[in-house]
Amino acid sequence: MATQRDYYEILGVDRNSDADTIKKAYRKLAMQYHPDRNPGDKAAEDKFKEAAEAYEVLSSAEKKNQYDRFGHQAFQGARQGGGFGGGGFTDMNDIFSQFGDVFGDIFGGGSPFGQQGGGARQGRRNGPRKGSDLRYITEIDLADVLKDSEKQIEFETEEHCSECNGSGASKGSSAVTCKTCKGQGQVVRQQGFFTMATTCPSCQGSGETIENPCKPCRGQGRSKVKRKIKVNIPAGVDNGTRLRIQGEGEGGHKGGMAGDLFVEIRVKEHDVYEREGDHLFADLDVAYEQFMLGGTMTVEALDGEVEVEIPRGSTPNERIKVSHRGAPSLRSSRRGDLYFTLHPQFPDKVSEEEEGLLRQLAELRKVKVSSEKKGFFSRKK
Ligand SMILES: [Zn+2]
Ligand SMILES: [Zn+2]
Repeated sequence: MATQRDYYEILGVDRNSDADTIKKAYRKLAMQYHPDRNPGDKAAEDKFKEAAEAYEVLSSAEKKNQYDRFGHQAFQGARQGGGFGGGGFTDMNDIFSQFGDVFGDIFGGGSPFGQQGGGARQGRRNGPRKGSDLRYITEIDLADVLKDSEKQIEFETEEHCSECNGSGASKGSSAVTCKTCKGQGQVVRQQGFFTMATTCPSCQGSGETIENPCKPCRGQGRSKVKRKIKVNIPAGVDNGTRLRIQGEGEGGHKGGMAGDLFVEIRVKEHDVYEREGDHLFADLDVAYEQFMLGGTMTVEALDGEVEVEIPRGSTPNERIKVSHRGAPSLRSSRRGDLYFTLHPQFPDKVSEEEEGLLRQLAELRKVKVSSEKKGFFSRKK
């Protein structure tokens, strides 16, 4: 068994702390590592479980006493036997069902992991809940990838209704305790020898019913709104990059936290440049004279002009690299490179003078060429 941390140390309290101090310390940690605030964060989940385990023991006078006397050994093996403490929580739902009341007024005691099984106390579902996350797809130009940019986006989202402040009850009235389930959110039925608890059909488990529904939101406590925000798009984003904007998703329910907005980037295809990872690629037409003799070309890149050195004696489809003129990397400050694939260009037309020189060249190099035709030649494709 792995070494366990001291329960007092976990909660950050000293051994003489009273029950209230212990509860406050646990509450603070539970808030900090609450899965609603740390979605998908395994380390936070572990901390959350660890704190719950410590609190389970230290909040009970009897268990605390045993722990003070025997340490972790007091509970070794006890959990498998259905006993208490020490073995740790494997199921997050256990924590919510057991200690939900500690952070009930903020997170509603509702488990973010969905409906819980059994137990009358767990029936209510009317507490604060986090709003849904939203996904927004935005298209940017390839040139926008090279620098930080800002984009205004507009979307429709749901917020709690301002008229009724999210309660769903019309002004001056409020939700009342459900008569069917007396606020429990569940009804208990006797079936032969068995007692079955099911979600209350009158309030759908919320424990409350609304007699005078708010008109603008028809009792939903929610309304649709248009929102406009500016999104900062960092240099180096790629097709499919998702930017998370915390708290810009749908509004929370009953005072719960707002969801997040995920902005997904689509990069438009460019006529000339193509991106692969952090590098950019393009084709470059080069005069055959430059292939043979070398030369410099000024090319319009995505972020201004770039000088391309064509080495003497280049061959068709050869690649020339221009360092650090590719796309920026999201992970480092380094920019990728820019590559040009060289394609030789021959003139469509040559003048009489040019033809004369070409024939001289051919003669020098003992290349057999067609015999002279009168005048200007022109080749049409
Ligand atoms: Zn309303
Ligand atoms: Zn009910």
